[in-house]
Amino acid sequence: MSADVVVVGAGPAGSAAAYHMAVAGLDVIVLERGELGRDKVCGDGLTPSAVTELALMGVDTTGWRRNKGLRVIGGGHLLHIPWPEQASLPSYGLARRRTELDRDLAERTVAAGARLLTGVTATAPLTSPSGRVIGVEVRPTPRAARPGVTAPAEITAPLVVDAGGVSARLATAVGRAKDVRRPLGVAVRAYFRSPRADDAWMESRLELWDGPAGKSELLPGYGWMWSVGDGLVNVGLGSVSSRAATTRIDYRAVFNRWMERAPASWGFTPDNRVGRLGSAALPMAFNRKPHYADGLMLLGDAGGMVSPFNGEGIAQALMSGRLAARAAACAAARSTAAGREKALGQYPAAMAERLGGYYTLGRVFVSLIEHPEVMRICTRYGLGRRRLMRLVSKLLSDGWERRGGDGIDHFIQLLTRMVPAA
Ligand SMILES: Cc1cc2nc3c(=O)[nH]c(=O)nc-3n(C[C@H](O)[C@H](O)[C@H](O)COP(=O)(O)OP(=O)(O)OC[C@H]3O[C@@H](n4cnc5c(N)ncnc54)[C@H](O)[C@@H]3O)c2cc1C
Repeated sequence: MSADVVVVGAGPAGSAAAYHMAVAGLDVIVLERGELGRDKVCGDGLTPSAVTELALMGVDTTGWRRNKGLRVIGGGHLLHIPWPEQASLPSYGLARRRTELDRDLAERTVAAGARLLTGVTATAPLTSPSGRVIGVEVRPTPRAARPGVTAPAEITAPLVVDAGGVSARLATAVGRAKDVRRPLGVAVRAYFRSPRADDAWMESRLELWDGPAGKSELLPGYGWMWSVGDGLVNVGLGSVSSRAATTRIDYRAVFNRWMERAPASWGFTPDNRVGRLGSAALPMAFNRKPHYADGLMLLGDAGGMVSPFNGEGIAQALMSGRLAARAAACAAARSTAAGREKALGQYPAAMAERLGGYYTLGRVFVSLIEHPEVMRICTRYGLGRRRLMRLVSKLLSDGWERRGGDGIDHFIQLLTRMVPAA
């Protein structure tokens, strides 16, 4: 079997790439080891940047859970920061469970003409004698949810996309290891049936108290809770370190302690929990590169694209898919191999232009906030300053204009240009 492009993984990155490539007329095969509706451990939060990417894919978000902005709690402060109305970004965010979001996205790619094979795992890259990636080895996923899946042994394509998430199996197989000097996050999350599902704000807790605030032990990490609709709240906590070092913290135990002491009115009890408590890593600040070389592109988590500022990775995964598709479509129109390579090289350049300087700042940010004493001072003295918090909110949520905008946007544009791209 062959195609113009084979995409491994039907998460946000793979689906966005396949959608935009199919719209551009490329013959695309997408391989997904799970089935549509598979779960992915995530906070399910979609900032205005993600909403914009969904709009560019023509996804119908009618009926999805909307939110107005961030509620930030910490250092004795409680702050509401609405999403600003920007030229390039809407003044609302969304939340959607990944079981539904990823199915919706995959269905968009199929509607656009991509061929989706589910229950099929890409086990290794196929390489030419010169080391170029020219396809993938494939087999039905062991213990697949749907029995009787058949798969070709190999799929060849002049362009292969690793959108397989944090495991990045193809990238790893060709020696593109993660850079341990870049930040890595760890987070856990669970769903609860809760009266808090009526809340229209995304709540972020910069301090997690093991009991009433200020009167008990401070737990490690930062927490979130927001409605995902259908009476459910996504609750989680996580932490980030500036290097990919493993912490000895048992985040599940911390989560359970936090939940045991949560106010009874929130309903975060074992009886109200829906599904399992899941945990996963967040690969940040371009911790796996190059994003294109020798026939293989890395998208989303496979390219370490989670924001070191806030742990958001869906918008970046969707964006990487769109920018990868642009380069792939340009390459397909070239008549020489050298021309095609030049065109494909636009993809890493576009990612670096969009997020490179911003992520360099993000690495500095993480190296500061990983020290609890620095974080405590920032929380106590920073949260009370409204203008500073508007800047912080735009910076942390990637909600700043790349061109034009107000004084805050200009300031962030200047900062990101002053540093080298990550
Ligand atoms: C606890 C937690 C909370 C988070 N909260 C948020 C949040 O609120 N908002 C946000 O924007 N981001 C959040 N993130 C980050 C976000 O989940 C990821 O950045 C995002 O899922 C990346 O999308 P992706 O398409 O690159 O990878 P994934 O979503 O991981 O998709 C990869 C796909 O590839 C498939 N696959 C993998 N290997 C193979 C293979 N060999 N063959 C075939 N298929 C394969 C997988 O089954 C999967 O479907 C959170 C992450 C964690 C861990």
